[in-house]
Amino acid sequence: MTANPSSSTELPGWRHAYSGKVRDLYVPADSAPGSGTEPEARPARMLVVASDRVSAFDHVLSPGIPGKGELLTTLSLWWFDQLAGADGGRGIPNHLVATRSLGLGADGEAGTDDDVQSLIPDAVTGRAMVVKSLDMLPIECVVRGYLTGSGWAEYRESGTVCGIALPAGLSNGDRLPEPIYTPAYKAPMGEHDENISYERTVDLVGEDRAAELRDLSLEIYHRAAATAEAHGVILADTKFEFGVDENGVLTLADEVLTSDSSRYWDAAAWASGTTPEQRMASFDKQIVRDWLAANWPAPREGEPPSLPADVIERTTARYRELLERLTAA
Ligand code: ATP
Ligand code: MG
Repeated sequence: MTANPSSSTELPGWRHAYSGKVRDLYVPADSAPGSGTEPEARPARMLVVASDRVSAFDHVLSPGIPGKGELLTTLSLWWFDQLAGADGGRGIPNHLVATRSLGLGADGEAGTDDDVQSLIPDAVTGRAMVVKSLDMLPIECVVRGYLTGSGWAEYRESGTVCGIALPAGLSNGDRLPEPIYTPAYKAPMGEHDENISYERTVDLVGEDRAAELRDLSLEIYHRAAATAEAHGVILADTKFEFGVDENGVLTLADEVLTSDSSRYWDAAAWASGTTPEQRMASFDKQIVRDWLAANWPAPREGEPPSLPADVIERTTARYRELLERLTAA
């Protein structure tokens, strides 16, 4: 995908800088644009707006899922707050500075700073966050607690997941003996992310940072999986992105523990189910992936088919149910 300004809205006070598959990024309107030869200077803050777009197998599908941007932003904010200490654990630094109508930044900065909060335009309230602009690390920090998806496909072939040997005899949807860290290289726009070894992450970011990424990812997964379990939900796997702030602090960025970046299953269905379909009752975009896999087989070239209304409805309902379950007292 290329940066696609047409998919973004004009927002007062902000200038569109980049659109990913799902989110639109804006920089302050008064920040200096790049000259064409010089890259843009990184502003201190950015606005991240979650759209209703949905992607599967790295293709953006249409139509979008109405309300998805807001549901996922709400979920992400709730998790940032949990990980900042609401779950009783130590505070994990995150990129949130402010949001509007849905609570405030976890680092406390926004609580006293109405000016920052007021920077969020009305048109995107509920699906936007003002974040610290970080030096992003090109690694998708994937943690898997259960065997499924591409992990299951690899295991069936070779008994490994991302090169990590696992016990024989596991089935699709089984819990792993220990959660495993399986990083991927975050490919530049338009290319597919690629699973990489831990050693490769050392080459990319250095030994200390690589170890910090792995340890922090596993810590967050353990905490989040325990929180989810207390609400009858399994966090099967997830992906984090981190950046480095102006003081060199490793900071949790992007969206976190959403149903786009994670697989969530119903714990009761998993425990009583006998088939993979029954065990993996998804609260995530697996519904979309399954439909696309059945209706648009590989190599998936050209335009993907339109998502039917019932797939959109089921996905919305499951996303909403996940949010309700997790955030219920
Ligand atoms: P996909 O997630 O679908 O693979 P993508 O990651 O290219 O695609 P989006 O997730 O839609 O795109 O866009 C969000 C972009 O913003 C990502 O490139 C992410 O790395 C970047 N980003 C998130 N938080 C920050 C931050 N605090 N500072 C700088 N960049 C960030
Ligand atoms: Mg992303």
